[in-house]
Amino acid sequence: MHNLITISTLNDFIFCPYSIYLHNVYMGGDEELVHAVPQTRGRVAHESIDEKKYSTRKDEIMGMSVYSNELGIVGKIDIYKCNEKLLIERKYQLNAIYQGQIYQLWAEYFCMIEMGYEVGKLAFYAIATNKTFPVTIPNKADKKELQDFILRFKQFNPEQPVDINTNKCTHCIYCALCDKVDIENVYT
Ligand code: SF4
Repeated sequence: MHNLITISTLNDFIFCPYSIYLHNVYMGGDEELVHAVPQTRGRVAHESIDEKKYSTRKDEIMGMSVYSNELGIVGKIDIYKCNEKLLIERKYQLNAIYQGQIYQLWAEYFCMIEMGYEVGKLAFYAIATNKTFPVTIPNKADKKELQDFILRFKQFNPEQPVDINTNKCTHCIYCALCDKVDIENVYT
């Protein structure tokens, strides 16, 4: 269980690897200081799942902790519909599906498989628009891609230079705490 990566941070790592470092440095502090609008919405999207309020149906599993020894990852799924063998990840809004979000869903899938569950279908669900977006089950090449990505994550050194994208930084919730830039984010 040593050096496990949290599934929810995979997308953040693609956004900016240094944001993971800042998250780890400040996660013990006051969350309200660092949570901006997008992240708050994300938390609201998962609140009912974490509190197991979303459904009382016996054929649905919600907010279950999952892990993969093989991939070295740990996290929580949103909803698994047992009858349909369908794994769903909810987002507040989905104008586009980014590769990091796909990696998250793939990671949850591989955890479920390793834990002995049958998963035949994957999908994202956008709460704001009430739309479902099916995702193809990952193949061997996809698994290798995810493993390579996880390796890059584990090997990241926060002292190395990061690509600065001003537009990205101004929308980064850690902007005010980041020593790599000297700008303000749009949430202040
Ligand atoms: S402010 Fe920019 S460089 Fe700093 S963590 Fe955020 S995205 Fe990365």
